[in-house]
Amino acid sequence: MADKKKPFNVDMAEQRIKRLFKLAEKAYKKRPDLADRYVEISRRISMRHRVGIPGELKRKVCKKCGSYLVAGENSRVRLDGKNVIITCLKCGAIKRYPYK
Ligand SMILES: [Zn+2]
Repeated sequence: MADKKKPFNVDMAEQRIKRLFKLAEKAYKKRPDLADRYVEISRRISMRHRVGIPGELKRKVCKKCGSYLVAGENSRVRLDGKNVIITCLKCGAIKRYPYK
């Protein structure tokens, strides 16, 4: 039973992370500070349970300042052929990932 518990926790952690990102998305317009808070909580869950934040959600968080990023609001998104370049307008951090 002991080894059955771990995948369950991991699954729970993933669900919670996804839920928090949904909440962040909803909260952003009215309460950007709350959105950042949700992201912070989800990062903590991810660390505690050693669960990675899913790739598509990771792109919505600034690695440097931890802000929840919304394109055209607090982040700038550009394409340079093969890559997507996201600039956090709060701290200026830039991240790139391959464009699919
Ligand atoms: Zn930032």
